[in-house]
Amino acid sequence: MRKKIVAGNWKMNKTLEEANVLASEVKGMVEAEVKGNAIVILCTPSLFLLPVKNIVGNNTRIFVGAQNCSEHESGAYTGEISAAMLKSIGVPYVILGHSERRQYFGEDGALLAKKVDTVLKHSLTPIFCCGEPLEVRESNGHEALVKKQVEESLFHLDSSAVQKVVIAYEPVWAIGTGKTASAQQAQDMHAVIRKHLASKYGQDVADSISIIYGGSVSAANAKELFACPDVDGGLVGGASLKSRDFTEIAKSI
Ligand code: PEP
Repeated sequence: MRKKIVAGNWKMNKTLEEANVLASEVKGMVEAEVKGNAIVILCTPSLFLLPVKNIVGNNTRIFVGAQNCSEHESGAYTGEISAAMLKSIGVPYVILGHSERRQYFGEDGALLAKKVDTVLKHSLTPIFCCGEPLEVRESNGHEALVKKQVEESLFHLDSSAVQKVVIAYEPVWAIGTGKTASAQQAQDMHAVIRKHLASKYGQDVADSISIIYGGSVSAANAKELFACPDVDGGLVGGASLKSRDFTEIAKSI
């Protein structure tokens, strides 16, 4: 059965002290209040991965995740962080291809395919983001674009590798805007992605891959989104910065 996941993307927010407080609060609340077998991932700025991991401890349901990593193994890439480094401090998850990375740092499908390979090579789990900008949705090109994004960066993988990937569908127009995709829009796109995976890898493989939704997920809308059959959880930006809001979202799964 595929995993249910609620991941918080802290982006470039918090100081060390604030990160410690947030992580401690989330840990306490999640342990006390979140039932079921969903896992919770805190995707912190790289600098805070280790301290937050130390707070979370060897928890079986709360993990840390990076927000990006280099496609290169090591070497003269000033400012970059490698998959091996993440592995060495016990980080199991890495967000790849967030729309902000695509937009501000020019990351494209081919580069992301390399990053996916590097991350998998080090036995980390990529949380691969895809999603369409507003103008593409308005011109009805969203399904074709998202299928292309998945093809470009994931379809070179074999069945066993692709099952190790988590996919996050994040319509760009819903990220940080307060404008969420409706549950129906999310379900429709998740079903399209799963069908596309099935066309390449077969239904069993497609059914084993977690596809989570991101884009203004909140305590108010999480339950309805997570109730959709093909929505396996959420990638949460703004609301992950407040322990109470994030815990309420995690409780909705
Ligand atoms: C995100 O950054 O991945 C995200 C979904 O942000 P928000 O929840 O703030 O829309």
